[in-house]
Amino acid sequence: MKCSFCGKDQTEVGKIVSGPNEVNICNECIQVCSYILKEDNKKTQNHEHFSIKNIPIPEEIKTFLDQYVVGQEKAKKVLSVAVYNHYQRLKNNYFIKDNNNKKTADNLVELEKSNILLLGPSGCGKTLLARTLAKMLEVPFAIADATTLTEAGYVGDDVENVLLKLYHAAGEDINKAQTGIIYIDEIDKIARKSENPSITRDVSGEGVQQALLKIIEGTIASMPLQGGRKHPHQKNIDIDTSQILFICGGTFEGLENIIKGRLQTNLIGFNSDIYGPVNRKDESAILKNVLPEDLVKYGLIPELVGRLTIITNIDYLDRNSLIDILTKPKNAITLQYQQMLRNQGIDLKFTRPALEAVADKALSRKTGARGLRAIIEEAMLDIMYNIPSMKDVKEFTVTKKIIENNEDAISNSDIINNNGKERETA
Ligand code: ADP
Repeated sequence: MKCSFCGKDQTEVGKIVSGPNEVNICNECIQVCSYILKEDNKKTQNHEHFSIKNIPIPEEIKTFLDQYVVGQEKAKKVLSVAVYNHYQRLKNNYFIKDNNNKKTADNLVELEKSNILLLGPSGCGKTLLARTLAKMLEVPFAIADATTLTEAGYVGDDVENVLLKLYHAAGEDINKAQTGIIYIDEIDKIARKSENPSITRDVSGEGVQQALLKIIEGTIASMPLQGGRKHPHQKNIDIDTSQILFICGGTFEGLENIIKGRLQTNLIGFNSDIYGPVNRKDESAILKNVLPEDLVKYGLIPELVGRLTIITNIDYLDRNSLIDILTKPKNAITLQYQQMLRNQGIDLKFTRPALEAVADKALSRKTGARGLRAIIEEAMLDIMYNIPSMKDVKEFTVTKKIIENNEDAISNSDIINNNGKERETA
């Protein structure tokens, strides 16, 4: 049997698929066809000027965020407006046409891009906010950790890798990638160590900041394409970063002292610690007063701060917020377990004290909501192990005791007798 396209026989290729009327095609030709189709597809997409046809209004964006992100009301509002404006700006600068399809750009004022800085404790939703926004807008999304950029010897390469990630997330559609969102985590970790750059220059941190600044402010970056087989004639691809929305996040530990210092200096004329040590809730409150100058004092270069025009802080999550996170978001972890067991014909419940115990454990780990999943997973392991072999179990309630003694194996009889111990279910 030979491929009707390339003429190779079965011994020369991996597989030959036969069609009607004795037409055959080999796996290699299928791959070539698929590549041609993909390229064609990209060309048609490139003719569409803008991938977001109907930009959702801020209220719609916020409502969508509400489904996944608990609390963080201020940040959600700020982000909703910022993202809406960002995509309006894109439209304004390049794509507004009148009814006769004629560009009216001459009458328009070019709008400058505003990138976003999210400040606040880790595990409280910074990445989640950025990711959820991208999900809503159906734009490509990539995450980079600023600290990995520090570690690599070649700063420039790594910064371009972020763009490469975005390009892949865009299904290798360059136009789409250019309207995507990039989240850069731990931006505070590349701050200069010293306030005074002339004394100890933390060159590595500053180098990364400069590299980031370049792509954030807008440049044509040349990305090396790996796996060149797919693009035999193309080793590099240019990406215009001027319309990419950058969201940076960082905990900025110690920033509250800088802000507090400034506020106190302004208030009473000298800088002293009259308010005593700050607790975590106060920290959030103090961060609300952040000014660009505080970030420069913290060690970000002024040019970078200048490009992060929208600064907002996210709050520390308290016990009730953590409990809400366990149950309220559309894809909340307890809902996921309930669905999983419902598929096995079992009604799973969590008591309120059990949820409180999970929240308390997470609070003691000081990792925000990040620890919640692991705590539930630890507690559920024995249950998930035992339940499938127990044919007569129709419902199961997770109690405080199960969460607190998760290291003790739950015996089969525990599962059977479990119901009714703590009736107050979530
Ligand atoms: P960070 O602020 O460090 O970027 P993340 O957004 O990565 O934190 O949060 C880690 C995980 O914790 C998320 O994937 C999500 O499951 C959960 N989480 C954190 N904050 C929230 C929140 N406000 N609402 C719902 N889930 C949250």
